[in-house]
Amino acid sequence: MKKLICLLLCLLPFAAMAEEETALWDYPVPYSVLQNEDGYITLASTERLLDSDFIPDDLVKIKARKTSGTAIQMREKASAKLSEMFDAAKTDGITLYAHSGYRSYRTQKTMYSNRLASIGYDDGAVAYPGSSDHQTGLGVDVISKAWIGKRFNEKFAATKEAQWMAEHCDEYGFVIRYPEDKTEITGIMYEPWHLRYVGDEAAAYIMDAGLTLEEFTEEYEAYISAFEGDHDSALDGEDGLPDAQEVVTGISEDGDEEVTLFGGGN
Ligand SMILES: [Zn+2]
Repeated sequence: MKKLICLLLCLLPFAAMAEEETALWDYPVPYSVLQNEDGYITLASTERLLDSDFIPDDLVKIKARKTSGTAIQMREKASAKLSEMFDAAKTDGITLYAHSGYRSYRTQKTMYSNRLASIGYDDGAVAYPGSSDHQTGLGVDVISKAWIGKRFNEKFAATKEAQWMAEHCDEYGFVIRYPEDKTEITGIMYEPWHLRYVGDEAAAYIMDAGLTLEEFTEEYEAYISAFEGDHDSALDGEDGLPDAQEVVTGISEDGDEEVTLFGGGN
């Protein structure tokens, strides 16, 4: 009997700990996704500027339909998912056209300078160099045939193409990167044509919760830091374990001496 109790005492804290660990992560997006090893949720903004020499290493020429003969590059996965989304749209009678994908820091810098020179101030229409979603290789502007050659504006949102994208883009891992009524957060005007690949799980959550990438980033970073703070000591195998005495209460009411050997493991 003593041996059995001893065995239970040894095993119980670990079983309880495993249960506790899985129960505590209740953020809607998995931790593995938020570690951002593939860079799919990387935020580029005026507060999180990408390095001037940041160039994704898996850029490919997209195969999806384009507004012109000029090649468009995106990161490999984003390109594949874009094609998948275009095919699905086509099935629904919606024909989409990709207009612009990856842009280098240098290109963005030129565009920004030109915009500034032409209107004299930063109106949010062209992102500051290093802050462009296009530099990530995961952003893409998608329009309809009727909008080819036009200057983009928020009236595009009323088209059936824009409405289809708003409804379905997350099924392919994309989000509307610059939503309506969030321009103060993004610093960029409403762009119903600008999609950003973030992966399926993040996209589903971001679109469902109606967040910007800025809000999502702030939210999950805060969650992770609180979570890791709580679990800091669990990592060294000391604290974080349930108190052994609490775990065994009820098993050994007879006051078995061995209980005291295991009790209060902290
Ligand atoms: Zn864009």
